[in-house]
Amino acid sequence: MMDIIGHIRERRDITREELETLLATKEEETVRQLRKAARETADKAYGKKIFMRGLIEISSYCKNDCLYCGLRRSNRTAVRYRLSDDDIYSCCENGYGLGFRTFVLQGGEDGHFDDERMCRIVSTIRERYPDCAITLSLGERSRESYRALYNAGANRYLLRHETASPEHYALLHPAEMSWQHRMDCLQELKETGYQVGCGFMVGSPYQTFDTLHADLQFIRSFGPQMVGIGPFIPAHDTPFAEMPNGSVETTLRLLAIIRLLLPEVLLPATTALGTLHPQGRELGIQFGANVVMPNLSPLEHRKDYAIYDHKICTGEEAAECRACTEFRIRNIGYETVVDRGDHCSFKGEGL
Ligand code: SAM
Repeated sequence: MMDIIGHIRERRDITREELETLLATKEEETVRQLRKAARETADKAYGKKIFMRGLIEISSYCKNDCLYCGLRRSNRTAVRYRLSDDDIYSCCENGYGLGFRTFVLQGGEDGHFDDERMCRIVSTIRERYPDCAITLSLGERSRESYRALYNAGANRYLLRHETASPEHYALLHPAEMSWQHRMDCLQELKETGYQVGCGFMVGSPYQTFDTLHADLQFIRSFGPQMVGIGPFIPAHDTPFAEMPNGSVETTLRLLAIIRLLLPEVLLPATTALGTLHPQGRELGIQFGANVVMPNLSPLEHRKDYAIYDHKICTGEEAAECRACTEFRIRNIGYETVVDRGDHCSFKGEGL
């Protein structure tokens, strides 16, 4: 079993059988070794540093109808809001004062945030905070839109591929959504010059060892700067409301495996992991994650960005969220850092 971990580390590759063995094993010693190897790898690339990104959830409107997501357009009970430009700038101002040097603007696919408006927002943030990285996570847009936002000053873009299997994708999304289009978007983001993040939910309905192996192979070949994975958590009033949630244990093992496959990748310990386990994010770090994303969104809208049920961190001010995150990380022997936290290969670029 230890050989498998050594092989993955050396080859930066994993076979379907090795993956199944590592995800299925009940041997505690194997899991301990996996965690140790992942953490050693992360420490070698980034030391004990954990990067903090300030997350601003700009809109809960979405034109898409993903079967798993609480913000899907058919969810009539979802509470919708969108932040004004000034709301977003206030979040940044607050975040900057708290030490954040990356702002992540995430939202549903909301037509109100068209290119004109988004470029204005991005260029204003860029002008006011030249030392900060701007990350966008606004879903599928045109190549021209990605370019315009990049030229306006955005540096990074998160777009989870969701699954590397077109057949699996079709079971998670309505027919009008296309796996190929999502993959094309990722390619276009990369070609535009962004630091790009892909990723997937762990334990999404109909996921198998085969689809997971395809995900890891896609990630290896795409070579993203960031990978976002977190457990699937059902959302009420969606077609998957009664489906079981993804496993914390499997998510942790996959974080470790991804760290071994891409030693320098920026890997968040996600809110979804923290939602399913009180120490989920700390465990994520101990299995190789090196990014956390405290929430900077206005308190009055927090609970309405409800992509899944029982989401944590919906009742605290940004300052509390930051302090809590820092405390948790220090408690396990790591250090939160407030610099931009670029991928090793992008040092000094993209400002
Ligand atoms: N609209 C943008 C997009 O499509 O990339 C960003 C927002 S979207 C809500 C962000 C991510 O949330 C998705 O990529 C998906 O993986 C995750 N997500 C959605 N519903 C979820 C659920 N029920 N459980 C866990 N993660 C979920």
